[in-house]
Amino acid sequence: MNRRKVSYRLWSLSTSWIGWPLRAFAELLIRLRRHPKVDGVRIVTAAVEEDRRERWVATLREALLYIEQHDPRRYRRIKREIRSIFIGPEMTRGKYDRPYRDCRINYRGLEIEDHPLWLRFRLTTLLVHEATHGSCCSRYIGYTKELRGRIERLCHREEVRFARRAFPDLQPEWICEFDITPYQTHWDTPKRVLRRRFWSLLKNELILPALRRKEVPPAGKRED
Ligand SMILES: [Zn+2]
Repeated sequence: MNRRKVSYRLWSLSTSWIGWPLRAFAELLIRLRRHPKVDGVRIVTAAVEEDRRERWVATLREALLYIEQHDPRRYRRIKREIRSIFIGPEMTRGKYDRPYRDCRINYRGLEIEDHPLWLRFRLTTLLVHEATHGSCCSRYIGYTKELRGRIERLCHREEVRFARRAFPDLQPEWICEFDITPYQTHWDTPKRVLRRRFWSLLKNELILPALRRKEVPPAGKRED
């Protein structure tokens, strides 16, 4: 067996075994519910409000279609490497999760309503970025301490190549040089601090709004 393949598998097991029972349970819950699919890619949204959920799915549908029309090769990669797209509270702009082939998108990035072109640019380049992470995993290249800087640089380069091809009216200031600083800051933050921040994010932006919503009386029983 390929040595790189074995070491990749061992590495991915070591990083995921603690969370897997929780993740498997979450996956089961997701599968029990019906989620919209765009060309075979499942879209899971964490928004409580129905109209917000619909808006996010529509935005994502439009972004995927745009990539398919302007860069079919990278679109095929997205289809190959991403099975589900989750939109919800995240601490970074996006995240790729293997072995589930999930692409996680920070919903804040989808709330820019006054500039549709900028929103499309941000979303499509993010999908290209995350699919490149998937491609690295498919080639058994682990996101290790030694390699992660080079992997992020590669994903950024793919974003830029895609942007130059797919956006003829691209504003030069939209494409920035690769900067490792935000990644390094994230990597240098202790895991327990990241976990605490993530839980408070989930609590404030997902769990509490969902609970508060349950307290609202049905429309027919309101007095106004
Ligand atoms: Zn990345």
